[in-house]
Amino acid sequence: MSEQIQESVSVATGETLVEINDLKTYYDDGAILDSNPVKAVDGVNFDIKRGETLGLVGESGCGKTTLGRTLIQLEDATDGEVLFDGTDVTELSGTELKNWRRNSQMVFQDPESSLNDRMTVGEIIREPLDVHAWNTPQERRERVRELLDVVGLRPEHYYRYPHQFSGGQRQRIGIARALALEPEFVVLDEPVSALDVSVQAQILNLLEDLQDEFGLTYLFIAHDLSVVRHICDRVAVMYLGHVMELGDSEELFDNPKNPYTHSLLSAIPEPDPTANKERITLRGTPPSPRDPPKGCPFTTRCPMKIRPEKYQNMDADLWVAIEVFREVLRERARAEKTLTEIAKEKLGMDTRFSSIGEIRTELFAELDVPSEVREHIDTAATYVANNEEAKAREYLGEEFGSICDSETPAHHVVSDTGRASTCHRHLAEYDEPDEFTPYTER
Ligand code: SF4
Repeated sequence: MSEQIQESVSVATGETLVEINDLKTYYDDGAILDSNPVKAVDGVNFDIKRGETLGLVGESGCGKTTLGRTLIQLEDATDGEVLFDGTDVTELSGTELKNWRRNSQMVFQDPESSLNDRMTVGEIIREPLDVHAWNTPQERRERVRELLDVVGLRPEHYYRYPHQFSGGQRQRIGIARALALEPEFVVLDEPVSALDVSVQAQILNLLEDLQDEFGLTYLFIAHDLSVVRHICDRVAVMYLGHVMELGDSEELFDNPKNPYTHSLLSAIPEPDPTANKERITLRGTPPSPRDPPKGCPFTTRCPMKIRPEKYQNMDADLWVAIEVFREVLRERARAEKTLTEIAKEKLGMDTRFSSIGEIRTELFAELDVPSEVREHIDTAATYVANNEEAKAREYLGEEFGSICDSETPAHHVVSDTGRASTCHRHLAEYDEPDEFTPYTER
């Protein structure tokens, strides 16, 4: 069984360049009816070693881009530390911040929109040098020509405009601009996802060559897991603002230890169509980062969620129906009611918020529901019908909830190489995720 750790999930070998401690980035997206902030990054700990490529993966909206932007101070951290060579850059401002920024750059996802079409390629690449008043104007022009060569473009491209280039060439321009000030750390935000597959390989090779040549350290953000496996030394898997698993890339892909990583990897298409690969289909969508679950962030969708002792042997379909029922009630609590709906409700008329009977029938009518369970469902439905939805949620939580709903899991070291996974199943009293069959496998 794993050793439990509470602090960082870093692999403690090699020299650390970036250390992130309990980093949080919250923001308000201007919604009127809800004052909770969006918790895009919600307590992340890890480090990045000098010269390595750390992959950051997860579904769209999981907070990976916000995390990348916070690391290089394009977003303000709400709390926590980002230490670069021991200096907390979240505390920097003014000239200190400007000087530090030379050292950390970003390559953006979309080469079509990330370059200013009214500037020549030379001006685009030279802009950071101008902003930082780097050497003489003559030396800046020389530097741009050097950079064009480094990224595989030609000297005559200096006076052309971005629209005259293909997607791959435009990404080369973006990379040249990011390297202009000789940074040590580069955040690559989905740098190849907008490109054709054949061009993707060229850009990935270029990024690897540049890393070898200039000793760069990369944070590589991606949703394409096969690309990550190819290029990254280690991978961090993110869900709803949290890192669920972090460790050696090959090891993590070959033997995922966290239920979320397991589900994410099971969705990668298998090159061999005859291979008998288990696929896990996650139900629903991730919860709102404004209102994340209280316990484990993955608890509302986890196919390996821990059940209460007395329901260990419950039929899998019935368990899923109960989970969905609880999720529907949580969603209803979050949904913004229109003024008409509020008015109808007050007048005792039917609204989409008063159809609990229909939901119950749809979920349970075709299942064999033991009488004890049926009683609990009926009690909750009665609370809802009486406009006591919070009481219904609490009642179901007490009956069917588990540690996954109520306690945030700690990070556990799960391999000799220091891989860490955030899941209660690594505790001695539960089955390890890889010994447990997911109950929604298809
Ligand atoms: S703590 Fe529970 S809900 Fe979270 S990943 Fe582990 S088993 Fe799933």
